Order: sequence, then C-alpha cells, then structure tokens
Amino acid sequence: MLYLDNSATTRIYDEVLEALLPFLKEEYGNPSSKYYLLAENAKKAISTAREKVAELVGCDPEEVIFTSGATESNNMIIKGVADQYPEKGNHIITSKVEHPSVIESCKHLESKGYKVTYLDVDLFGRIQPEKFEQTVRNNPPLLVSLIWGNNELGSLNEVEQIAAICKNHNVLFHTDATQIIGKVKFNLSLIPGIRFLSISGHKIHAPKGVGVAIIRKHDIGKKTQLTPLIHGGGQEDNYRSGTLAVHNIVGLGKAAEIAMREIDNTINKLLVLEAFCKELLVMKFGEQLIFNSDTGNKIPGLLNLMITGVNNQRFIIKHAEKIAISTGSACSSAKPSEVLIAIGKSDQEIRSTLRITLSPDIELSDLKVILDL
Ligand code: PMP
Repeated sequence: MLYLDNSATTRIYDEVLEALLPFLKEEYGNPSSKYYLLAENAKKAISTAREKVAELVGCDPEEVIFTSGATESNNMIIKGVADQYPEKGNHIITSKVEHPSVIESCKHLESKGYKVTYLDVDLFGRIQPEKFEQTVRNNPPLLVSLIWGNNELGSLNEVEQIAAICKNHNVLFHTDATQIIGKVKFNLSLIPGIRFLSISGHKIHAPKGVGVAIIRKHDIGKKTQLTPLIHGGGQEDNYRSGTLAVHNIVGLGKAAEIAMREIDNTINKLLVLEAFCKELLVMKFGEQLIFNSDTGNKIPGLLNLMITGVNNQRFIIKHAEKIAISTGSACSSAKPSEVLIAIGKSDQEIRSTLRITLSPDIELSDLKVILDL
C-alpha cells in the first residue's frame, strides 16, 4: 500500500525514533528537576531541540514554546491574545479556509461577545491582501489569524505582504504554518510582522502529540504576553504549564534538524514527484480529471483534484489496499469541506474531490500504482 496522505500525518523517520528512544527508556528525568544527571540531561536535550526548531524558522530559541500540537498552539494564541488585550477591542480577523482549530477558537470567542470577520478567499483559497488591508483599516482588529499554506488546497497566502500590513497598522498577526514547515523556505527574523506561528511535529516526520507556538519578542526584547491556556507549574516561561514530553520534544528537534538540512532536496523531490503524479493521473483519468489546486505558489507535493462522476469515499475504500489518500482534511472528514465551499465548489464537486499528499521518501516508480487503480 502506498501512503499518499502526508498532510494528514507522516511516518516517523528512523533517525527521529533513534534520537527519542533513550528518553523513553534510561533518560527518564524531569527537565524541571534540578542538579542530578537525569534532570540535567533532559534539560540539555530540551534545550538542543529548542535551538533546532528556532534555527528552522529563524527565531530566538527563547521564542519557542512547546505544546501538544498545532491545535493547542492555535487555541492558545487566539484565546490567549483575546483574553490578554481587552483594551485593543473585540474584533478578530481570520478567513473562511482556516483549520478547524482556528475557526472553532474564533467561534468560541464569538460566543463570548467578540466580533470575528471571516474573510472570503479567491478560487484557490487565498486572501486578497488589498481587501484584507481595507478590513483592517475599517475596523482595526486586536488579532489577525491567517493560514500560511492551506491544508486542503496547498495554496500559499501572501504572508509577507499580510505581515507588513499588520506591522504598519500595529496589529498582532498569527499564522498557522503547520503545512509548510520543511517544504517552504522562510525566515521569521526577516518577517517582523509575524508575532505568532503554529507548528506541529507529526507533519514533519516527528511523533504525534507535540507542536510549537512561536511567540516573538517585540521591539523592547520581551515576548508578547498572552493568557495561558494551561495554568500550573510555570513551565515554558509560564506560557504552557505541564511536565514537558521530553521524548516527543527530542523527536521534534531531530525532525526540525532534518527538515532544515534536507529542505532543498525535499522541495526538489516533491516537485518531481508531483509532476509525475499529475502525468499519471491525466493518463489514467483523462477528461474526467480536474485539478482544484493552483499550479504555482503552493505547497509542493499537495494535489487537490476532482474526478468527475466518481464518489470520493467509495473511490478511497475501493482502492484502500493499493493507496491511502483522503477526501480533504483528516480533521473534518465527517462534514463537507468548508474550504471547498469557500472556493465555490458545489456539493457534487465536493463529493468527487480527493487530496493526494506526497513525501520525499516515496520513489517515482512507486507512483505507477495510480495506473492500476
Ligand atoms: N493546522 C493545520 C493547517 C493542520 O493541517 C493541522 C493538522 N491537520 C493542524 C493545524 C492541527 O495540528 P495537530 O494535529 O498537531 O493538532
């Protein structure tokens, strides 16, 4: 069976597993404990992982806050900022194509009296920066949360432009970078308008249950404050209490190191795989095939497509022994995709839509299985 659902999750790399295993076995110290070797080793391992993540995204290690995943990072940032800055008003700007962890956090805040603008998107699911700026000007928000690379369509938002607008208007900006890490190059130190960024481990061949919230320092060198989602012993500089999942964090650190080391190879390989995959799909499905994804300015290796006349769920079940693919996001598979509704797809089109997401550890020849479907 060929696994082609790498936006849902990825296989843990052997190198990652080897790095984390000692922290499930002999190195079981609590990094918050003091003085003895087991505690110091755990502390050192956390510190190395923090440095690797910081290097990958281009920030200061102190700005890396470990969480349980991108769902938690998104919740923590959106709810935490809303709670921390009542004087900045009650308007939040997001879009109609965000991950459910962003949309549902915003809906929760709406139920508490916040006003949320869910921006419309273009045919590929992108925000138009000019319209965005107009919304900011008309009703300055306390927070903007916009996805960097869409998890269903792969389209990249003009995040640098959006960040510049936010900086000009002195607005806090959060972006969910979960799907672009290791596949799109960026450097946060060159994009000062981004105040918050979310990442997940299991999308980059690290374990599930670990992620990061990047909380940037502002001009006076202090990290932006927010109300914690989880109160307790004050770990992670008081942003996120709870004993650190050392093994998971070590795994994420190793995956970040690999992502950084391999990023050029990864991008090139994904582009080659994607081109071949498209060719095979055209050969197999001909005129029935319509691509929903854009051809450029997107996450490499993510294809969203329609096979007209085919029911997506039946298709996936029928071919489950040969390939693993999805109808869209794994997070909201029970409901019709809000992302596809937002780009104007009909019910029937949505029911024919499939998402294929590649990984650099796939060989070109593996993809020929598409011809056997
Ligand atoms: N944001 C995006 C864009 C995602 O694709 C996902 C995972 N599907 C998440 C957030 C949630 O990540 P996690 O599984 O780490 O909670």
